[in-house]
Amino acid sequence: MSLILTRDTERFQVPERLPVLPLRDVVLFPYVVMPLIIGRSQSLAAVDAAANDGNVVLLVAQRNADQQDPAAADLFRIGVVARLMQVVRLPNGTTKILVEGIARARVTRYATSAGTLRATIAPEPFVDESEPADQSALGRRVLSLFEEYVSLHRRIPAEVVTLVQATASEERQACAVAAHLAVRHDVRQTLLEASTLPALLSQLAQLLAAEIEILRLERKIEDDVRGSLFQNQREFYLQEQLKAIHRELGQEDDDFGDLEAAIEKKGLPDVVKARAHRELRKLRRMSPLSPEATVARNFVDWVLALPWTERTDDALDVAKARVILDEDHYGLVEVKERILDYIAVLSLVGKLEGPILCLVGPPGVGKTSLGRSVARALGRRFARMSLGGVRDEAEIRGHRRTYIGSMPGRVIQAMRRAEVVNPVVLLDEIDKLGQDYRGDPASALLEVLDPEQNRNFSDHYLEVDYDLSHVLFITTANSLSTIPEPLRDRMEIIRLPGYLDLEKQAIARQFLIPKQLRQNGIDPASVTFDQATVSDIIHRYTREAGVRDLERRIARIGRKLARRRAEPSVPAAGAAEPNERPAAEPSTAAPAKRSRAKKPAETSAAEVVAHPTEATTGIQTVASDDLRALLGVAPYDPADMSLEDKVGVATGLAYTSVGGETLEIEVAVVRGRGKVQLTGTLGDVMKESASAALSYARSRAAALGIDRDFHRSRDLHVHIPDGATPKDGPSAGIAIATAVISALTGRPVRGNTAMTGEITLRGRVLPIGGLKEKSVAAHRNGIAHVIIPFGNARELEELPDEVRAAVQFHPVRTMDEVMALVIPGVAATAPDIPITAPNVSVSPPITH
Ligand code: ADP
Repeated sequence: MSLILTRDTERFQVPERLPVLPLRDVVLFPYVVMPLIIGRSQSLAAVDAAANDGNVVLLVAQRNADQQDPAAADLFRIGVVARLMQVVRLPNGTTKILVEGIARARVTRYATSAGTLRATIAPEPFVDESEPADQSALGRRVLSLFEEYVSLHRRIPAEVVTLVQATASEERQACAVAAHLAVRHDVRQTLLEASTLPALLSQLAQLLAAEIEILRLERKIEDDVRGSLFQNQREFYLQEQLKAIHRELGQEDDDFGDLEAAIEKKGLPDVVKARAHRELRKLRRMSPLSPEATVARNFVDWVLALPWTERTDDALDVAKARVILDEDHYGLVEVKERILDYIAVLSLVGKLEGPILCLVGPPGVGKTSLGRSVARALGRRFARMSLGGVRDEAEIRGHRRTYIGSMPGRVIQAMRRAEVVNPVVLLDEIDKLGQDYRGDPASALLEVLDPEQNRNFSDHYLEVDYDLSHVLFITTANSLSTIPEPLRDRMEIIRLPGYLDLEKQAIARQFLIPKQLRQNGIDPASVTFDQATVSDIIHRYTREAGVRDLERRIARIGRKLARRRAEPSVPAAGAAEPNERPAAEPSTAAPAKRSRAKKPAETSAAEVVAHPTEATTGIQTVASDDLRALLGVAPYDPADMSLEDKVGVATGLAYTSVGGETLEIEVAVVRGRGKVQLTGTLGDVMKESASAALSYARSRAAALGIDRDFHRSRDLHVHIPDGATPKDGPSAGIAIATAVISALTGRPVRGNTAMTGEITLRGRVLPIGGLKEKSVAAHRNGIAHVIIPFGNARELEELPDEVRAAVQFHPVRTMDEVMALVIPGVAATAPDIPITAPNVSVSPPITH
């Protein structure tokens, strides 16, 4: 018996009873071609039997896949009639077959005959009873869901979608989709058993939607898993790289360990230690190349480099301190005494309270080296910190740790250099502190110097307090006037007025020459400097209150001599090294009276070495004649400062930040209309004092025998040469007035006399500052008489003996007295103004 099965438009005639091929975990659908491997005897028998039945079998799924020899009850009732397209027997005893599903069939009966399970079947077509429009809508939905399903499903090739879409019949499409759905086989069986095509389609749609949902979820979970996996791997990878970088940089992993140990070992205050550990922890977590790591690392390094508890023991022996101070510096008796007082108090009280020492004086008078000496005398470390040009508070207190370059301020930097908590710190040039919008460094400095506050000094960078209370601060300044008032209040001022000639000579001989020779590897005992040589270096090669330039010149001589000794064949050409200042005289000019027959230009260091004395004593002498070769042309000529009487020229005395100076004030009178011209870089106060001088001249015109109306018919030109430093202050008043009167009267002013004093409109002479420095300068310049305000007379006692012995001082109260002293012959009638003070002693007239 046979029956007709239809598939689309195809019709198949098949036997009614067919051998049954049971399927495990697989459901075949009509239209679908599928390879199967079979090995069970039951299946092989079925295939064999089919060969006699037109190669048609019934494929039915087992209810339970584990069943090895399923009986009728173990099989579903709906299966698919299939054609055996290919049967290949494999060497391992199994058979590979290729089957094509023809149509659904229902088993009406199972029966076993001759060892083969056979089924009697009835056709079970998909009944189509819905509206075609609904069905095709459903079909399209299934297709689009299938497309999405395939796109999400990794194991279904994308072409399947194209193939399925290309299929004309919806039944065929549905079967293809069902066949590709990766679902459990019992689910697949229910699909196979769907009563109608729309039922199958809607079941498919539902299944697809659910599967898509699951796939999406899976995808997400998978992505998440992969993401987190990737993240972990990434971190692991980076950590490995980091270690490699550390190794490359020579910072093995245990670098952090070392830092940690160092933090523990260093006697840090608790707060600081906690802070350092915190930064280290941060550092461990960071890439060493990140900017933050650099910042954190710097911080830890700073904390470790700074002294927190390390200190030196003080040597508080005043007698020894005296020896050390004397060893380092010539003279400076008063200064040394004050320093010794300080050390004495320190040794008694045991702590540093009271005012901070402030050494005030022109450059090169030994302020810095005194500071160093104090440290040596106390057995302390020394650190210097320059304040010149500091305008920003952050320079004192540091920058916040926000950027890579930030650093602690100069105070903490000095402490780092000192390496102990109790050094001597020299705050240099405290008078050069600036101030601007970035905050006031002076107030930060106040905190540094205040013993009440400096125990908890806060630096912006460190953020933790630093104790400065064990530090001995010493400050230096060139002039007092620019030191901020609150700072000055806290300081004990010690003045170093500048050196006199003899002092300079002694310093050069006893300190600078031996020091410089030694520094250049020359035994000081093997060289002597003539008296005249030292004096010439001082007068012709330097013009200063201190000895800095002098030391520089001597250093240069030392270098030249050393070079000569090292390379005897090479003449050390003194002139080859250019002068530090423009030569004041033509290079061919003979230097001075002292020059010998030998022409200086021809003198070389070679000749210096071969100086006659050397041959006999082995001691080399540096003579004044040799200076030209060693130092080049002398920039100054002492004869420049002429001491002759001149008309319209008066010698004033100035006191600037670089010490005392003489000041040649010139006045020229020309026909004109009363214009007064002032030249030279004059400060406002000096200009005022020039006009006061003029007013005085006019008011005393009659008495002085000058034309009362000179200011209408003449032009006056007052010139004050600026020299190296700008000058200001009223103390040139009497000198300006003198020069004006001399110019108007045509009478000369005594050239050997210098003067200083402020002048009022009515000709009174008021006291001035810096008498000591001015006197020293006058003496240095060979001035024999100095006119000073009466109000300064009592300071004369404080002047160095040498100056008092060489210079005659004339205290005056009025300008008339000045006239009488320096412009002899000018009618010095009774002054217009009554002099109230008793015992006016009019000084004896000045003679040459
Ligand atoms: P300042 O700080 O006042 O500008 P320095 O301390 O730098 O001056 O001194 C300049 C040089 O002169 C240093 O080498 C210093 O040793 C030397 N010096 C200054 N005064 C004396 C002195 N009285 N005795 C010995 N050397 C001195």
